[in-house]
Amino acid sequence: MKSIREQVAAWARTASPWIIHFNSGSCNGCDIETVASLTPKFDVERFGIMLHGTPRHADVLVVSGAVSRQQQARLKRIYDQMAAPKFVVAVGACAAGGGVLQGCYGVLGGADKVIPVDLYVPGCPPRPEALIDGIVKLLGSIKGVGNAK
Ligand code: SF4
Repeated sequence: MKSIREQVAAWARTASPWIIHFNSGSCNGCDIETVASLTPKFDVERFGIMLHGTPRHADVLVVSGAVSRQQQARLKRIYDQMAAPKFVVAVGACAAGGGVLQGCYGVLGGADKVIPVDLYVPGCPPRPEALIDGIVKLLGSIKGVGNAK
């Protein structure tokens, strides 16, 4: 059974997850859809989701694009700077496994080549509705999380 402190922390994260977005080598298609999902049209603030600029304050890392060799160290550093428990969402086919960029000389592969991924949102690019649906499902799993990874 979780302590009161763990229950309050899980409730706070579920009610207001702060996200940080990182482009690890995307063609920008996934970035455009990710940014679109944060606009008032889709109103993700109704779920308490807020974009935040610093990894130290973020609960969820949203990664778009295949991880290029140039970006892998930056992606790892951002992940390491986030406080536990932390969650990673890979947006689009490239972040999931390299997508159309798989096999390129400068591409390492999907985000899970560098950091653990909790949720994959398929598509090339995924629509904002798919991304929002994925994050809401992730919130459901966060409710049960109290221990650091
Ligand atoms: S999944 Fe498609 S839209 Fe997204 S970064 Fe890859 S090629 Fe671009």
